[in-house]
Amino acid sequence: MIIQLKQGATKEQYNKITQDLIKKGYEIKDVSSDKVIVFGVLGDTAILDERDMYAYDGVYRVTRVQTPFKKASRSFKKEDTIVDLGDGIKIGGGHFQMMAGPCSVETEPLLLQTAIAVKEGGGTILRGGAFKPRTSPYSFQGHGLEGLKMLRRVADQVGLKVVSEIMSSEDLVDFEKYVDIIQVGARNMQNFQLLKALGKSRKPILLKRGLSATIEEWLMSAEYIMAGGNEGVILCERGIRTFEKYTRNTLDISSVLAVKELSHLPIIVDPSHAAGKYSMIEDLSLASVAVGSDGLIVEIHPQPEIAYSDGAQSLKLDKYLSMMHKIHQLKELMETLKK
Ligand code: PEP
Ligand code: MN
Repeated sequence: MIIQLKQGATKEQYNKITQDLIKKGYEIKDVSSDKVIVFGVLGDTAILDERDMYAYDGVYRVTRVQTPFKKASRSFKKEDTIVDLGDGIKIGGGHFQMMAGPCSVETEPLLLQTAIAVKEGGGTILRGGAFKPRTSPYSFQGHGLEGLKMLRRVADQVGLKVVSEIMSSEDLVDFEKYVDIIQVGARNMQNFQLLKALGKSRKPILLKRGLSATIEEWLMSAEYIMAGGNEGVILCERGIRTFEKYTRNTLDISSVLAVKELSHLPIIVDPSHAAGKYSMIEDLSLASVAVGSDGLIVEIHPQPEIAYSDGAQSLKLDKYLSMMHKIHQLKELMETLKK
């Protein structure tokens, strides 16, 4: 961290801030000239909030050198994290996985029909919401625990893993029992109580980007989970809120590249909640694969017109299968380009 003092800052002001930092265990490296007073703060500055430094009189500018996240950062760990789901299914470090399924778990026959298609297309993980974060309290809220059990039954029957969204830490025991990846939805990305509870779990966590979260805030949320001891975090870009209304959200495709520079954690893309329109899902999925996403999570449904939620962004099963065919081709092409 580099701190520059205001023109005319006093010796007392300089002493106050530097002595306080030294007391906290930091080393001060003064690089002032006769025109400007500047010093570096050496040590573990990830635990310092640069905004707090402005509480000192005489501070003009504080610049962070180290990222505020530690365990999630690429400088802390150089090699890509690979999250192992068992049965040879891994995400990250060159391992790509496809997650697909309905927005909400509805009926068992529909879920089974969907799961069979997920598998046929080369998908390995069945998605489905049992606890739904709906904007309106009058919309379908999900089947709850029964939904989780249904996901598990169907996934086991077909040979898939399960990802589903948790809304409260009260349900953690059930999630640990029935799912393979616990999803934290965009609306809960900064539910720190929930993140801390998940830090104590050993299940992989799919951490979606908040509706208007910066990449740094998102990685700080990953840090919460990792600080608690759970290092199995998979990030998920799902679009952010911008001034644009034509799509549901704006897919920030460059965040895949940014996260790969800043962090060793795997990152996947959810084009469904980004676009909000089924017609855009295939192309956005291909674009995500092209920038190096470690996987995709896509909403699909046998009859989107009658879906309990998010039908407009759900691909019909045949469209999913033809998209998967193109994804496999694109992945092969990318392999040959690497050679
Ligand atoms: C979902 O995956 O069904 C969902 C609600 O996503 P998000 O949290 O990204 O809105
Ligand atoms: Mn949805």
